[in-house]
Amino acid sequence: MQGSEGTRCQAYVRDNRLVAHVGDWLYHFDETGRLLMAAGPRQVVRRGFDNRLLQVTTPSFAAQRESVVAGAVGAAQRESVVAGAVAAAQPGVGADETDATAVGAAEPGGLMPRATAVIDPTVGALVYRAYHELDTGAAADFYRSAYGAARRTLQTMMSAADGGVDLNHEQWVEWARRLAQWSPEALATDAAAFRTVYSPISILPPDQYHSLVVQVTLGCSYNKCLFCDFYRDRRFHIRSEIELEAHLDHLMAFLGPRVADRKTVFLADGNAFVVPTERLIRMITQIRRRLSATAGASGSTGNAGTGGLLDATGGIEFNAFMDTFTLEYKTLDDLRRIYEAGLHTVYSGLETGSNRLRQFLAKPGSAEEAVEALNTLKAGGFRLGVILLVGVGGPAAADEHLADTLQALQQIKFTDGDLIYLSPFVDPDAITGYRATLTAGGFDSFTQDGLAQELVRWRRALAAMQMPDGDARPLPAKVTLYSILEHIYG
Ligand code: SF4
Repeated sequence: MQGSEGTRCQAYVRDNRLVAHVGDWLYHFDETGRLLMAAGPRQVVRRGFDNRLLQVTTPSFAAQRESVVAGAVGAAQRESVVAGAVAAAQPGVGADETDATAVGAAEPGGLMPRATAVIDPTVGALVYRAYHELDTGAAADFYRSAYGAARRTLQTMMSAADGGVDLNHEQWVEWARRLAQWSPEALATDAAAFRTVYSPISILPPDQYHSLVVQVTLGCSYNKCLFCDFYRDRRFHIRSEIELEAHLDHLMAFLGPRVADRKTVFLADGNAFVVPTERLIRMITQIRRRLSATAGASGSTGNAGTGGLLDATGGIEFNAFMDTFTLEYKTLDDLRRIYEAGLHTVYSGLETGSNRLRQFLAKPGSAEEAVEALNTLKAGGFRLGVILLVGVGGPAAADEHLADTLQALQQIKFTDGDLIYLSPFVDPDAITGYRATLTAGGFDSFTQDGLAQELVRWRRALAAMQMPDGDARPLPAKVTLYSILEHIYG
């Protein structure tokens, strides 16, 4: 279908989302008309509830392969990638290749601001992507452009002789009404409402960006790891039953029918397992009771149905972070009961198998104790997401970090479905004073290019890794990227 300016355009509705296809761009809006994401040539722009617009750019495969084959990432190439990414942030501008589907389907993960994207030809996997957060002015321009393009597409659909594809004329009119509510100013007001519901959602695992986050705790009970600044802005607190009920009230009011678009529940903040077992199970029960009732209500209005949060058996899947040192307060029986209550996936930072590096990072417990805790979780039935901090300690620690971590991973009883996340280290110096202690500890830092090559090295090492049991099978866990710079909750 041709738009008024001769641009190819079409719209359709899938899973309660409006998708407007305009030229080389796909714009996704949720059922309330808020922009969710846009996918254009070699890039995706995602919107968070906090109104951040995060652009992730993937240069062409050929350019990435060249950079790896050359063995180094040149500064000139990096700058040209960054310049292209910024130019292409405006829909329809700077687009010389069309590969929206490939970009949209790329695995989660990403990279440093202004870093060059790299594909490792050995493992055929994306290692790095360029990342850019749009400032307020650029974000407002992007919103106007996206909503303008979508509204023009709906006009075209409405004026089509047969009332358009998928929906009848009245339904297109209704979608146009929903979109019309959202100006850049209205979206900013919406983000302000979000901030009254949640303390900052500092970090989530990359496969939990679209979960329903419930803050059963605030902050981290330890809060002293040298590499981690996620929760330095708040005091640790476990929510009481009354506080949790109020939090649920507020987040349900904020999300409205969008609650049913969520597939899982993530128990934030940094370590839900620090909550005493009985209390944690009561919290899970409280949340499930509340969400089950809401999912049923949404279904009866025909907005979202119960296919989101509720699985086929009416259950809800819960997930959480856990720091390994907290497991000394949980028995295997505790863990089994927590699993039976519905908490099935645990994301945990092993960070490194090097005890020297762990000590420097002020990460509590030895690598051996961390491995033991992770194996206790496996015995309890949990699915694991183990996070490794690639590049921490710099070139001075690189070989020791990799060798000791591979050795630790070989001791973990991974099963199919487990995940290993390679998380490129991001220096939190201003908050934790990381750099000030670096030299004294005998460590240093990678350049961005060095970190890119280090990620390639880790991916290759993990791809070649064999488990030490009798039949020498490969590592059963899937290895993927986890860039904290790409985190967005929305
Ligand atoms: S890494 Fe985990 S334990 Fe360490 S400060 Fe951060 S949230 Fe707390």
